[in-house]
Amino acid sequence: NGSNNGGEEYLFKIVVIGDSAVGKSNLLSRFARDEFDAHSKATIGVEFQTQTVVIDGKEVKAQVWDTAGQERFRAVTSAYYRGAVGALIVYDITRKDTFASVKRWLAELNTHCDTAMATMLVGNKSDLENIRDVSVEEGKSLAEEEGLFFIETSALDSTNVSTAFEIVIRAIYDNIK
Ligand code: GDP
Ligand code: MG
Repeated sequence: NGSNNGGEEYLFKIVVIGDSAVGKSNLLSRFARDEFDAHSKATIGVEFQTQTVVIDGKEVKAQVWDTAGQERFRAVTSAYYRGAVGALIVYDITRKDTFASVKRWLAELNTHCDTAMATMLVGNKSDLENIRDVSVEEGKSLAEEEGLFFIETSALDSTNVSTAFEIVIRAIYDNIK
């Protein structure tokens, strides 16, 4: 699982899942490159991006995988999940249907991965408060029920994006230390 490359270096595979158009790709590009794309299409070919963070003075590489749009066809393969030690399950706070799908994503995650993995429930698009359809309380209580971390983010204005990833990375690190 969480692979320690011999010395002081760590490489953690983290998968980002959730319904189509909730902002998965933009969360990843905000985290890895500080970029946002208002017209983003499913990026075919980009499997993952790597970002280095420093924890307790140690270099930790987060290899974060993006679905490249397969979730539209409910065909995220087991290869996608293989070796993952962390996950972000993302919904869109303005679309209740994407929140209702979280349990299905969690079930899929649990069939492919160790249930002990560090998983964050992410309510994205917090900048769209005026058209919010899922309350903070609903998000929080689902996370509590399922034993997940919880955060709301905006890939658009950057709110909490690096925090979301860093909490997961830190939890993985604490698990294997
Ligand atoms: P994915 O299908 O889950 O990878 O979603 P994308 O990252 O492609 O985003 C889908 C759409 O939502 C795009 O039009 C993005 O510009 C938009 N989007 C993503 N994140 C946010 C956000 O935090 N706030 C707002 N307002 N729009 C977002
Ligand atoms: Mg995408």
